Amino acid sequence: MTSATREWQKINETDRETVAKHLNELPVKLGALANDLGIDVKLSSLPLNISGQIAKTATGFEIKINRHESRQRQRFTLAHEIAHFLIHRDVIERMGGTLTDNVLYRSGASESIEYEANRLASQIVMPEHALKAAYLRFGENISESAVELLAEQFGVSKAAMEIRMAA
Ligand SMILES: [Zn+2]
Repeated sequence: MTSATREWQKINETDRETVAKHLNELPVKLGALANDLGIDVKLSSLPLNISGQIAKTATGFEIKINRHESRQRQRFTLAHEIAHFLIHRDVIERMGGTLTDNVLYRSGASESIEYEANRLASQIVMPEHALKAAYLRFGENISESAVELLAEQFGVSKAAMEIRMAA
């Protein structure tokens, strides 16, 4: 199971169970996870400098992902917006019901909020248990080609994979 990080602890129990259910299959099916959480996801023609957005709607929440960015990037953005939903619903409310993330994942919310969302997003796309299994398989000094293999398995960029492994 996913380790008890600070971000993970902030998720309410119902949502946590929903997320955990989705972490056993790689690459994690983020669209299905979002739907299970009651979030609508749309690929959207957002402005060039915007990666994603989460907004409260009349019936729930909606995430928009910039359709012009790479597939790996879209996956991380979706995980980032899901993370905002999981632990920052109060923040979304305070910001008037919409959080819009630019390409640096800055939204006007505080740095610590964005940092939390990035950390939780990493834990969702690259689940702890799968990472531990990789360390068992490859050892602690993972080669360049093994990192590439893992990145592909998780559906993330090599850079995201390296950052996660350094954390
Ligand atoms: Zn954000």
